[in-house]
Amino acid sequence: MDCIFCSISKKEVSADVVFENDEIIAFKDIAPQAPVHILVLPKKHIAKISDLSDDDAMLIGNIVNRARILAKKQGISDSGFRLVFNCGDEGGQVVDHIHLHLIGGKKLGEIG
Ligand code: 5GP
Ligand code: ZN
Repeated sequence: MDCIFCSISKKEVSADVVFENDEIIAFKDIAPQAPVHILVLPKKHIAKISDLSDDDAMLIGNIVNRARILAKKQGISDSGFRLVFNCGDEGGQVVDHIHLHLIGGKKLGEIG
């Protein structure tokens, strides 16, 4: 299977990694939409949010919690930030490996 985020997780492709443990990796987005734009994702391949099972609830909780910690480290906890999971074609998902966008460091526009 050819998945860019699996390749980054396995260190076959380089990225600016800001956090990793056995379960999760976080790295800077290659085309940042704001001064802070980090992707937080499971190392295991899950294509999209719709494919999750109830057993993955803890994993997703850990990803959101990690984004919270990274936001604090980036100094944007108090100013505010956006967390986004795009899901599927109409949801604007381009890379088919679940990832949470942590975006901030400037005033963001409204969604929709
Ligand atoms: P999506 O639209 O799927 O929610 O977001 C995919 C994101 O992954 C985009 O913001 C895009 O800039 C980022 N991205 C795509 N390929 C790479 C890559 O090879 N390295 C990094 N660091 N980010 C990538
Ligand atoms: Zn993958």
